[in-house]
Amino acid sequence: MKIATRVNHPPVVAVPADNRPLVAPIYQSVKFTFDNVAETERQSRGQRQGFQYSRVSNPTLEQLGLTLAELQGRDGCLLTASGVAAVNLALLALCKQGDHVISFAEMYQPTRYMVRRLLARYGVTHTMLSIEDTVGIEQTLASTPTRLVIFESPTNPVLKVPDIEAITAAARRHGTLTVLDNTFAGFHNYGQFDIDVFVHSLTKYASGHGDVMGGAVIARRDIIEKMRTDFIVIGATLDPHAAFLIQRGLKTYALRYERQCANALHVARFLETHPQVASVTYPGLSTHPQYHLAQRQMHDAGTVVSVELKEQGVAPASFANALKLFAISASVGSTESLVLPGQLMMPRDLSADEQRWAAVTERTMRLSIGIEDAEDLVADLRQALTTN
Ligand code: PLP
Repeated sequence: MKIATRVNHPPVVAVPADNRPLVAPIYQSVKFTFDNVAETERQSRGQRQGFQYSRVSNPTLEQLGLTLAELQGRDGCLLTASGVAAVNLALLALCKQGDHVISFAEMYQPTRYMVRRLLARYGVTHTMLSIEDTVGIEQTLASTPTRLVIFESPTNPVLKVPDIEAITAAARRHGTLTVLDNTFAGFHNYGQFDIDVFVHSLTKYASGHGDVMGGAVIARRDIIEKMRTDFIVIGATLDPHAAFLIQRGLKTYALRYERQCANALHVARFLETHPQVASVTYPGLSTHPQYHLAQRQMHDAGTVVSVELKEQGVAPASFANALKLFAISASVGSTESLVLPGQLMMPRDLSADEQRWAAVTERTMRLSIGIEDAEDLVADLRQALTTN
């Protein structure tokens, strides 16, 4: 073979069937081939196993999807290039023109945009409620045929804890699907509830290291199979290299999440007693309005702490600027701690009523707690709270 031919047809190195790599390789290949047309066609028709094109399926993604589905207590998973792509896929694949959706003012802003603007362009109507309005959910379900309820638990950034059993039971009574964006509570939470579809941003706790983006839609296999063609043609598939990094990050998921929760409780308890702090919201504090509900429905209390600074005290921006271990940054779930002040989280797209429900003020600080030493975090917060 001449050089130009050889470099495009390199020698094949086959690993013997009884000789596995302990870490699965990255299948960084768009195309897969069979020896002949007949086998290619059989695979296309689902008559044999195998892969052809990575937007449709890829072994590295398959391994990650199987892992995540099992962690969440389901048996189907579709992997997307980001968390918002997963939310989009769930909404687009489950809704059609004329459908009605229930959503909440306390939700992640891009999700609100999808429901209010994007779905509306395709003839899907919505009702926006407060996640605390259990009566409103029941009344809306009773008065308006509703395709799905999409919600989060705990909510971002003020950590309201919805009653998942009440929401899923009401939805089931009215033949409505439930979609839970479970990014904050994580895969180890909520699998026991009667939730039809979970969505996750893998950018957060799954990868854990803030160096890769991804998303997942997780559900029973029959629900996933109904979404698969839409998934393939929307084309927001996760890249195999990103899937590999997320699979690697998952090895320490339980260790990281547990440490982050322990640190978050420690930080929350310190802040609760500080004279510059008006209030601390953390589902693991007995002062949280839904403390008992959180204890019942979560294995832990999460890694995000929401703080309201006192009116007369340190200015929110000065506090954030003074922190040395907390980077001013969006996102959560990294190994390092992060801070985001209210002025960067204001839900300006909401009406006055809805903004009241969202409960974010200029003095709200969202702390995403990492795996650092808890005492170092407390010392950093203490010095920043005394900044002028
Ligand atoms: N859902 C929630 C609850 C989030 O907090 C985020 C990101 O912050 C997303 C979805 C979107 O994830 P991604 O940034 O991976 O698109």
